[in-house]
Amino acid sequence: MKNLYTVNPDYRSLVSRYGSPLLVLDQATIRHQYRALSRALPSVTLHYALKPLPHPAVVAALKEEGCSFDLATKGEVDLARNAGVDPDTCIHTHPIKKDEEISYALDYGCRIFVIDNVEEAKKFIPYRHMARLLVRVSFPNPETPVDLSKKFGVLPEECLDLLRYARRLGLDVAGLSFHVGSQVPNARRHCEAIEQCAALLKQAEAEGMRLEILDIGGGFPVDYENAREQDIYAFCEPIREALGQVPEGTRLLAEPGRFISAPAMINICTVVGKATRFGKPWYYLDDGIYCSYSGQLFDHVTYPKYAPYVDGPVRESVLAGPTCDSIDIIAENIMLPDLQVDDIIVGKMMGAYTISTATEFNFISKTEILIVDTDRDEELKSLYQVEPARKKVDALKLVS
Ligand SMILES: *Cc1c(COP(=O)(O)O)cnc(C)c1O
Repeated sequence: MKNLYTVNPDYRSLVSRYGSPLLVLDQATIRHQYRALSRALPSVTLHYALKPLPHPAVVAALKEEGCSFDLATKGEVDLARNAGVDPDTCIHTHPIKKDEEISYALDYGCRIFVIDNVEEAKKFIPYRHMARLLVRVSFPNPETPVDLSKKFGVLPEECLDLLRYARRLGLDVAGLSFHVGSQVPNARRHCEAIEQCAALLKQAEAEGMRLEILDIGGGFPVDYENAREQDIYAFCEPIREALGQVPEGTRLLAEPGRFISAPAMINICTVVGKATRFGKPWYYLDDGIYCSYSGQLFDHVTYPKYAPYVDGPVRESVLAGPTCDSIDIIAENIMLPDLQVDDIIVGKMMGAYTISTATEFNFISKTEILIVDTDRDEELKSLYQVEPARKKVDALKLVS
């Protein structure tokens, strides 16, 4: 089975054929990640959260695998609809939304929505015969820089009150959900949240409210530091165990985003200029913080990047982006050999929260995405060579 962990493109041929900068999205890696997480959480239905990489090629690859989807906006509804996704396999998980967002998703056929407060519950009164609701519970997580429980979720101690309120309004509350934050370092918070939700499900049942669903959200991590495959089966082991506490018969869902898309895209860009400033070499690239590397700002991630075709002694160098702004620097202390104009820089693990948060600042167009399938493409075969022909990423590891 080939994917971006095992196969390395001929970057130079890709650039001469398709230009630079370029993002290469591999559908085989999307399938590989989906299968790995499915094996790690066999009792859980996976709803891919579109937000990190809302691309039709990702949706197509996952749909073929039988994956379900997690939508949050009208644009994401359109993407799913245009890809021919069965709306019964979709959930809408934005805790705060306009009425028109609700009616738009209902019109598509999506039936399950998320609320976390009284105002949001009231919005569903007109739709109470068609919409089913999950109540999102907040479990703050200081271990991740992307802590989603600050912005969303009802406190566990206030959850039953909200459930009772929704019942009085005649709403159809189907279950609970949470999101313990993205790229979590371990499964500790997932397990604590599952335990507390299991207790809430039991308390609700004792009051005659039988909830059928527990949605354990996203947050599943990838290994950015080494650009290596995360052992997701081992990571999920405590989660599999914690799920044993959930009342029998509860339907389990998850909303993975990053884990599925991050390893599936790489960035190839080119040195367009060089200078020496403050005693260091500065290399100016044709992609940067305002575009494919935007995740370094918004998502607090540093991507593994290296110069695949240049050897020689390394020194502390700076990689800067193409805009005229001073924050457009993607690495300030990266160990690199002496590069020349036209040399190539490759960024790995760049499929999640990268191009989806890119801008066109300075009137620079967003980087094109080339879709490949390393497991199936015949036409592109000549552009790929199997390991270990490539240089080791480890040897060129970042220092900052
Ligand atoms: C962003 C988001 C996800 C995906 O989270 P990851 O950490 O990328 O897995 C899932 N669910 C909701 C509600 C989100 O907002």
